[in-house]
Amino acid sequence: MTLKRNTWLLILMASIVFSFLFFLLLTNNRVEYIGKVDIALGTRVKVVVSADHPERVINAILREFHRIEDKFTVNEKKNDKSVISRINQSDTYPVVIDEETAFVIERSLGLAQGTNGAFDPALGNLIKLWGFDRISDADFEPDVPTQEEIDRAVRLSGYEHVSVEGNKITLENGVALDLGGIVKGYAIDRGVEIGREMDTDATGYIDAGGDIGIIGPKFGGDFWSVAVRDPEGEPDDYVEKVFLEKGAVVTSGDYERTFEIDGKRYHHILNPKTGRPVRKTKSSTVIAPNAMDADVLSTAGFVLGGEFASIMLPPLGGQGYFIGEDGKVKTTAGWHFFTERR
Ligand code: ADP
Ligand code: MG
Repeated sequence: MTLKRNTWLLILMASIVFSFLFFLLLTNNRVEYIGKVDIALGTRVKVVVSADHPERVINAILREFHRIEDKFTVNEKKNDKSVISRINQSDTYPVVIDEETAFVIERSLGLAQGTNGAFDPALGNLIKLWGFDRISDADFEPDVPTQEEIDRAVRLSGYEHVSVEGNKITLENGVALDLGGIVKGYAIDRGVEIGREMDTDATGYIDAGGDIGIIGPKFGGDFWSVAVRDPEGEPDDYVEKVFLEKGAVVTSGDYERTFEIDGKRYHHILNPKTGRPVRKTKSSTVIAPNAMDADVLSTAGFVLGGEFASIMLPPLGGQGYFIGEDGKVKTTAGWHFFTERR
């Protein structure tokens, strides 16, 4: 009698387990991820999406990346009529700009203030002098500028000479804009927005050269695990893993755009004060609610170095992980919130 009851119980439990597994299989089938890779903003952009029409969503996101690249580039070969070229090359100020341009520039100025100028969107002359505006061009010939040239470009730089009022921008003191440290993040945010607008159930992520924005949690409810690259290792080696279901994580590394002369390596993140590539940091990774802020704050964290960045970035909305030139790691207090699968 008892044996029979147990057998029934067993059958009942087994069927519950089986139908649960079957259900999982069914729902998992619905959440299938499609990925596509393209080159935009000088980097490899990978979009991974699950949606009713994933290809449509992915293509719309990639189109947005190209639109933003054309609009904001300072690379004259790419587009010499970009809004940034128009602002930089204008003979008179103010220049009238559209709402989107004002939005990106105003945020970059706000965070330039917040980071004490560690992030500076008005380093155009300096970045051009070093050639980091066009390093991907095949005919680029790297050269280390002289101290005199650097001093001059530093004098012709600085966000305090940029002002935006409504739809008008004024540049003073001969400065030029370069939004290379914010535009990738902005494009990721726009991509995430487009994905969600096109399909409210869309999930997935955008990976622009290792800078990640989350469209929606994995399978609708799980974390995406994102690796923080080892700046000393191969592209696949990592030093840390974080778990995100929303927001963004961005890394600035000294391995990104570089050239070498006489055994010395020069990279593309400049100290606005000295006008030279920053040496005290190997990599700076920042998690923030959106990719635009994460992008700016990772560049700022790189310039500030872990010691300052770990204190200055949290009030600006960033949690970070910084590797110094000596290989020592410094994190913000809130960083570890993201390193465990909660
Ligand atoms: P990546 O583009 O490789 O992800 P970043 O986001 O850190 O790296 O941006 C670096 C770019 O930002 C440079 O190529 C240059 O255009 C610009 N830049 C360099 N130094 C600074 C700085 N101190 N503040 C703002 N922008 C910078
Ligand atoms: Mg950045």
